[in-house]
This record gives sequence, C-alpha cells and structure tokens, in this order.
Amino acid sequence: MAFTLSGDDAIQEISPTSIPEPYWVAISTSAAKMIGLELNADGFPQNEVWLQVLAGNQLLAGTHHFSNPIATVYSGHQFGVWAGQLGDGRAILLGDIAGQELQLKGAGKTRYSRMGDGRAVLRSSIREFLCSEAMHALGIPTSRGLSVVGSDLPVFRETMETAAVCARLAPSFVRVGHFEHFASLQNTARLKELADLLIREHYPECSTNKNPHLALFESICARSAKLVAQWQAVGFCHGVLNSDNISALGLTIDYGPFGFLDHFQIDHICNHSDQGGRYAYHRQPQIMHWNMACLASAFIPLLAMNHADEEAQELLRNALGQFSAFYTQSWQALFRAKLGLSTAQDSDIELIERLLQAMHDSRVDFTNLFRGLSQLKTTSPVESITLRDQFIDRPLINQWFADYLVRLQSEASNDIVRTQRMNDVNPKYILRNYLAQHAIEKAQQKDFSEIAKLLKILEHPYAEQYENSEYAAAPPLDLAAVEVSCSS
Ligand code: AMP
Ligand code: MG
Repeated sequence: MAFTLSGDDAIQEISPTSIPEPYWVAISTSAAKMIGLELNADGFPQNEVWLQVLAGNQLLAGTHHFSNPIATVYSGHQFGVWAGQLGDGRAILLGDIAGQELQLKGAGKTRYSRMGDGRAVLRSSIREFLCSEAMHALGIPTSRGLSVVGSDLPVFRETMETAAVCARLAPSFVRVGHFEHFASLQNTARLKELADLLIREHYPECSTNKNPHLALFESICARSAKLVAQWQAVGFCHGVLNSDNISALGLTIDYGPFGFLDHFQIDHICNHSDQGGRYAYHRQPQIMHWNMACLASAFIPLLAMNHADEEAQELLRNALGQFSAFYTQSWQALFRAKLGLSTAQDSDIELIERLLQAMHDSRVDFTNLFRGLSQLKTTSPVESITLRDQFIDRPLINQWFADYLVRLQSEASNDIVRTQRMNDVNPKYILRNYLAQHAIEKAQQKDFSEIAKLLKILEHPYAEQYENSEYAAAPPLDLAAVEVSCSS
C-alpha cells in the first residue's frame, strides 16, 4: 500500500518528467494480470493511455490513486560506508493499484537525484524487467517487472545510450535505508510512523505482540535470511547489497549488476565495480546479516521509547543474533531439497559441502549440474554417471557419487518421485548474462522479440521445454565473461 508518511521531510510530491515518443519494449502478461490490466493479442494494453502512463508522460485520469506521484527519501550505507541521503533519485511512485505500489524507475529527476539525471538506460531496464519476472517464476520474493517503455532520448553513461522507464510493482518499496534515514536525523516520530505503517499494512501479525516493533524487526530479519538462502540456492548474486537496496519486506529489489552463476565459483563477483568482492556470492549471507545490523541500529530509538537504552540494545542484539540460525535452517532445507533428500541427517551438510567444493574446484555449471542430478537412479553404477565427466578430480567425485547413492538408498528414495521433486526445485532455465545481453543487443536495434521470447521461457524455469533447451546451455566460452558494471 502507498507510502503514506505525512510531512515534507519524508516525500516529495513530484510528477514524472516526460520522455519523447515512447514505445513499448516489453510487458509482463502475468504482472499486468495482477493489476487487472487488459492486454491485446499483441501482448500490449488495449487502452493506449497506458503507454503514456507507464512512460511517465501522463497521469491516469480519473483515479485518485495516480494523481499524486511521490518520491520518497532514504539514506544508507554503500559498500559498508555511511553515504547519507540517497533516494529516490529516479524512481517515482505513481500510487496503489490492486494492493501493489506502482513505481516508475528512470522517470526523471527528483529533489533526491543528487548529481544524477533521473534516467535509466534501456540496457539496465531490460535487465531489471527480465530478472524480476525470472525471480518471481523461480518462487523467490521480488518486486515485479510490469513493463519497459523506451524512447530515443539520449542518456549518457560510459557511452551514449537511450532512455527507458521500467514500471515495477511491489506491495511496498520500503527499504532498510528508509529507517536509517529517519534514525540518522534522530526523527523518532517518523521512525515510529514508518514502523507502524509497515506493521499495519504488511506485518499485521506483529501488532498483537507485546513488543510490536521488536517483532517487526525479527520478522524482517527472518524474511531477509530466508531470501538470501533462496538466492544462494539458485546461484543468484545481487551485486549491490547496499542497505538502501534491501527491502523491508524481504523482497529482492533494485536489480543492477546482478548475475546468476554459470560455472560455480564460491567467491564469484558479478559486479565489475566491486573490486574487493564485498558482494561476492559467498559473502551475501554475511552481508545481509550486516544490513540487518544497520536496521537494528535504526530500531534502537523505537525500542528506547519503552525500554531503557541498554535494554533496547540488548533486545535488538538478541533478535539480530537469530539471523544465522534462520539462514542456516533455510539454506540446509533448500540444499537438501536440491539433492532430492526428503529426510534430514546430520551428515547431509557435509555431503552438500563436498559437492559444492568439487564443483568450485572444477568450475562446474551450477544450474545444469543440479538439474542433471535429478536423472540419477539409486541403482546406477557410479561408472555410468556421465555428470562425473565435468569434474577434474575423478577419485574424489566417484566417492561423492557413491556416498550420495548410499544416502538416497538410506531413505529408500523412489527414482520417479525424486526426479519430479528435484526438477521442481532445480531450475533448467535462469537468466544467464549472455542471454540477457543477446536480448539487449537486439533491443538496441529496435527488435524486442528476444525479450518476449526469453520472458516466456523464464516464466517456466522448472519445465523441460525441450524446444528451448539451447537456452539452458552454459555460456559459450567467448561470452562467459560478460562484464556488468554499476552504471545503469
Ligand atoms: P543504486 O546504486 O542504483 O541503488 O542507486 C543509489 C541511489 O542513487 C538511489 O537513490 C537512486 O535513486 C540514485 N540514482 C541512481 N542512478 C541515478 C540517476 N541516474 N539519477 C538520479 N538518481 C540516481
Ligand atoms: Mg538502489
């Protein structure tokens, strides 16, 4: 529901800035359906006014929801350093529709734009759109990508590019950075207003707790821990886990230089600008924990309204302390499921870790290896398992497969049932960078067909879709190292 904090220090009422001659680049049928937007056979809205609305050129007449667009203020830590006030520098919230907030990213300057131009380029808008929808289809909480509208308006990044507006949907775009903002100003009244809004609209179960604000903090931590475990389980690297990019609803938000792992490298860095690897794959859980610590600090004044300072800090410290357990529990459950295990044994963790280590050592494709495992039969002789060909250390992987088969036999695993269960959690199709890049390059030539095709495939990531199997392939060697920077 709409961000309803009152007062000039929380929002700026601002309309999007128009873009010249907008054209449709992409729309998600399933996201459109969520908000009751009717589409033609060509996949675009029947009512032409939507092109103008989602371009930011026109407000939706007649609906009070969309007549007062706003930009909200937030602050945050970027790469571990307090950066002060940040946004929304280019995202404008049009209003509520069907329980979702509709936000236009790249819709022009706001008073929070700092040195930015308020725009987003076509390339990054397509990436955000496709990945939002891909993550949703994978079953991972995320903001949704409703549409991308393009324009020939030039936008300068490293080179001259063109502008686009990505329309996104979420029940709320509140971030850790919103809390940090008001905490940094020692504005406890606003902090409380924000926390109470979240509880009322998104965490109603916290309202009956004897300490609703502490319960809210715990719930945000629990959701964030589960979210990051889900990322790890599909090999998703966010790329910029700054505290202003962390949703207070436990959603994946602000897709920038993200990347899915192709070959498995535990310390893979997907963001070319992240030289130190702060946001590398293996650090994501720890960094999410760190962001929750930022949130805990921001919550201190809230709890201090009803507790002595030391007690408030102690309560939050204890709550934060549960993050690792939440994360570990989710991670173990997800990876057990990836291996098709339906019971839990202590030794499973070692089994999972040995596999990941072997995959890392041989740089095995993360998605295809797990998908391939579902085809094993518990009675297969180890020598017949062709997946072994991808591993350099043969004796080691032979032992691993032998142990895995024994483990499956120990729970009398049924091959047919397990194959199905594993295929339901190990995707065949992910948004590999080289696939996104191919769609972007065509779009830059005004051919948007590849975006539509990719979207359709990624909407069913767990289905075989034999006709599209080439989209499941690891990148060809010359495309394996598509570099993605922060610029967007
Ligand atoms: P990001 O690193 O993309 O999460 O952005 C950090 C902050 O900078 C957010 O508040 C953005 O709204 C803002 N920002 C990023 N790019 C621009 C831009 N081109 N114009 C204005 N603000 C921007
Ligand atoms: Mg951001």
